[in-house]
Amino acid sequence: MSNPEVSIVIPLYNEEDVFHTLISRLQELKKTLSFSAEFVLIDDGSSDGTARLMSDLALSDKSFHCIFLSRNYGHQLAVSAGLQHARGTEAVMIMDGDLQDPPELLISFRNKLLEGYDVIYAVRKNRKESFAKRLVYKMYYRLQRSVSNFNIPIDSGDFSMLSRRVVDHLNTMPEQSRYLRGMRSWVGFKQLGFEYDRDVRAAGNSNYSIKKLLELGFNGIFNFSEFPVRFITRLGLISIVTALIYLAYTLFKSIMFGGVPAGFTALIFAITLFSGVQLISLGLIGEYVLRIYNQVRNRPLYIVAKRIVDKDEVNG
Ligand code: UDP
Ligand code: MG
Repeated sequence: MSNPEVSIVIPLYNEEDVFHTLISRLQELKKTLSFSAEFVLIDDGSSDGTARLMSDLALSDKSFHCIFLSRNYGHQLAVSAGLQHARGTEAVMIMDGDLQDPPELLISFRNKLLEGYDVIYAVRKNRKESFAKRLVYKMYYRLQRSVSNFNIPIDSGDFSMLSRRVVDHLNTMPEQSRYLRGMRSWVGFKQLGFEYDRDVRAAGNSNYSIKKLLELGFNGIFNFSEFPVRFITRLGLISIVTALIYLAYTLFKSIMFGGVPAGFTALIFAITLFSGVQLISLGLIGEYVLRIYNQVRNRPLYIVAKRIVDKDEVNG
C-alpha cells in the first residue's frame, strides 16, 4: 500500500467508553474525503479494553494503523510516538480521542494547508468546561505568554495540522520533557490559528489528572523560558539595593536624630545584603545550568524554510 496523504494521530488512554462513537465518526468522515488518509491510534498503556478494541479494528479496517505503547507514558509522549509513526506524505493532524476536537475540521485544516500554511492550530473560542477550570487555564496561558522567550499562542492546544516538513523537524527534536504546542511554534514557518468551539467529552472521564496537568504546565514554562532563573538574579539585586537604602536611611536617621538601637541595623543590613549576594550567586549558577540545558537538549540551531540556488527554489 502506498503511503496516505494525510495521517490523523489520536492518543488513547482508557477510552473504551468513547471508542465506538469515535471510530464510527472517523469512518463516516473518511468516506467524504477527497484525499487518502490513515488514522494512527496510539494506545498509551490503557488498562481497560481499549487495546483489544484497537487490535480488532486494525485487523478489520486497514485505514487504522495502531501502535501500542508498553505502558502509560502520558499524552505528549503518546502523540510524539504517533508523529514518529505517521506515514502521511502531506500532513499530520493531531486530535484527542474523546471527540472534544471535531475530526471534521480535518477538511478545513487541509484547505488551509493547501493555501500554504505549514501549521494550522485550533484556537478554542469557548470552553464548555467548569468555570474554575477555565479560569485556571486562562491564567496559565497568560503567565506562560508573559514569561516565554517567544510567542506561544494563547488558548491553543495540541489539536492541529502539521505539514510533513514540520513533522520531520519535530521528530528530530530529541528533548525528553515535551511540550508539543511550544515545540510546534518554535519550529516556525507560516502558522495559522483556527478558531473553533471545543465540545465536552463524548463519553468517559478526563484522564488528565491534576498531577499530569501540572507537569505539562511546568514543561510549558521551564522548556521555553529563562525567566525563573533571571527572576532569582533580579530578586538578589533588589535585596542588595534594599540593604543599601536601609543602611543609608538608618545612618541618616542616627546622625540627624540619634536613638537608633545599636547592633540592630548592622544585623538587618548584613542579612539583607548577604541574602542578595546568595541569590545572585544562585542566579549565576542558574545561567550556566541554562546553557548546559540548552546544549544537551540538542535542538537544531535553526530551521531553513527555503533556499534559492542557481535560480531554483528549494524547500527546507
Ligand atoms: N491521553 C493519553 N495518555 C494519558 C492521558 C490522556 O494518551 O496519560 C489521551 C486521552 O485518551 C485523550 C487525550 O489524551 O485522547 C486527551 O486527554 P483528556 O481528554 O483526558 O484530557 P482533557 O481533554 O481533559 O485535557
Ligand atoms: Mg478531553
